[in-house]
Amino acid sequence: MACVVCGVETKGAALLCGRCLGKIDDPLVFLPVSLDPISDHRLFQVASASLRIGPTSTADTTFSKGLEPALRLREIQASKDVGTLSQFINRYLMGLGIGLYLRGDERIPRRGLIWNIMKGAEGLEFNTEQWASASVRMGNIYSLLARALSTLPIDPSVALPLAQRNADTARRLYSRSLLYPSLNLASSANEAMLDHWTGDSNKALLTIERLLGFELSEDDRSHLMIVKATILVDTGETAKAVQIVESLPGMVKDSRVSRLKALTEGSE
Ligand SMILES: [Zn+2]
Repeated sequence: MACVVCGVETKGAALLCGRCLGKIDDPLVFLPVSLDPISDHRLFQVASASLRIGPTSTADTTFSKGLEPALRLREIQASKDVGTLSQFINRYLMGLGIGLYLRGDERIPRRGLIWNIMKGAEGLEFNTEQWASASVRMGNIYSLLARALSTLPIDPSVALPLAQRNADTARRLYSRSLLYPSLNLASSANEAMLDHWTGDSNKALLTIERLLGFELSEDDRSHLMIVKATILVDTGETAKAVQIVESLPGMVKDSRVSRLKALTEGSE
């Protein structure tokens, strides 16, 4: 095959060569894209003036605290207020649909701000629950990147080490939740998903099994069972997955369940 960007010959089915991969500044281009419901909301409901006016060449317009994330982030960074920064990143990622639980079907809006935030925040270490929570959400984005890089047709000699680096970063971010019991369940489940994506499905299933042994809310239990069924479908144990899907409470409305049902249809 050939690289779709520069035309150089590539190995196997790779459509992107290592050199062109290296030129990509924002690796979030590899993740499934979502429309941007938050900015639409701001524009139409909150009627954000600065979104309508856009950049201005005069010095007449000054911005201070406001709803625009990019401006707000700059202001918080300048103030060096740890609590506000943690809260901002946590809420911003939550607003984008990055939950504490890694689902696997997340879609990320195309905004340069997201990767800027993640690059800026990755090395910051604060001992607060808010920061641990923001870190779990950032970890989820790195996990999604690790999966994307190892499955997309990119020259594996460069894509795989990069996928590994993203997986390592995700694990490091998840480990920040160790001190906070309310986050442990999510970060362990997310790490199991990442283990599965990086080739250790047995370890992933053992983790999920261990977590299912805890006293859990209905929602937490359903999430873990969906994760387990997903891993089983991926590893070819469809019959077991069907059993799990059938045992889910009837009121569980989750797009992942519909997908699992479609994938396992006719295998009962
Ligand atoms: Zn190329």
